[in-house]
Amino acid sequence: AVGLSGISKSFGSLTVLDDVTLTVAEGSFTSLLGPSGCGKTTLLNIIGGLDRPTAGEIRFGSDPIYSDRQGINVPTERRNIGYVFQSYALWPHMTVLQNVGYALKIRRAPAAERQQRSREMLEKLELGALADRYPFQLSGGQQQRVAIARSLVYRPRLLLLDEPLSNLDAQLRERARAWLRSVHDSFGLTTILVTHDQSEALSMSDQVVLLSRGSVEQVGTAAEVYERPRTAHVAEFVGGAN
Ligand code: ATP
Repeated sequence: AVGLSGISKSFGSLTVLDDVTLTVAEGSFTSLLGPSGCGKTTLLNIIGGLDRPTAGEIRFGSDPIYSDRQGINVPTERRNIGYVFQSYALWPHMTVLQNVGYALKIRRAPAAERQQRSREMLEKLELGALADRYPFQLSGGQQQRVAIARSLVYRPRLLLLDEPLSNLDAQLRERARAWLRSVHDSFGLTTILVTHDQSEALSMSDQVVLLSRGSVEQVGTAAEVYERPRTAHVAEFVGGAN
């Protein structure tokens, strides 16, 4: 499990996260849901080690990853995390196979092993036919899948997704949700997804975390937050169009 306890973050006098405590169960799909500016990306960056909290603790299982009091801060490259952003940022001068393999090269895997593991990952995700193409020869949806293959090839223990579907058109997005969920299930991953899209969060997640102005407003299954919203704000956000 990923455990966050008392996570706060300020930028100068602006408090962006205020005492966030949360558990993400091993193997679960959790969404951080809330309106623009509520602190979702900041929280994801803190879990990934791209940003430091002002206070609080993070644990992965029983391992302390960050603790202000104990002076622990495991650097991002040793947290063993896969990260996919809204812009997939594939390397334009590398083929699909090379893009996936490069993630292993950075981690110093030998060339033969890189080649084999990259091919296997592409096959598993049904991307084998695209191995020799360059990113400009792929659709947006294909690029997004390759970015996910690249983040899974080194077997991370946690996958962090920041609005990965928001660049896709509505029809593709529907299919991508099902695909992403099936990848999560078949790899037994722990996944945390940031989104402002309530239907995306409700349709994909085991656990939905509603953030409002830096605080956790409600945590529950999709059915719980939809059927029993704890505040009028949750009801409005989950139920309404935004
Ligand atoms: P969005 O969906 O629009 O990306 P979000 O919920 O992910 O929103 P964050 O990106 O976490 O929100 O930002 C939360 C608040 O923190 C915003 O008011 C933002 O302007 C502020 N913020 C984020 N990063 C910084 C920074 N480096 N310096 C100052 N303020 C920041």
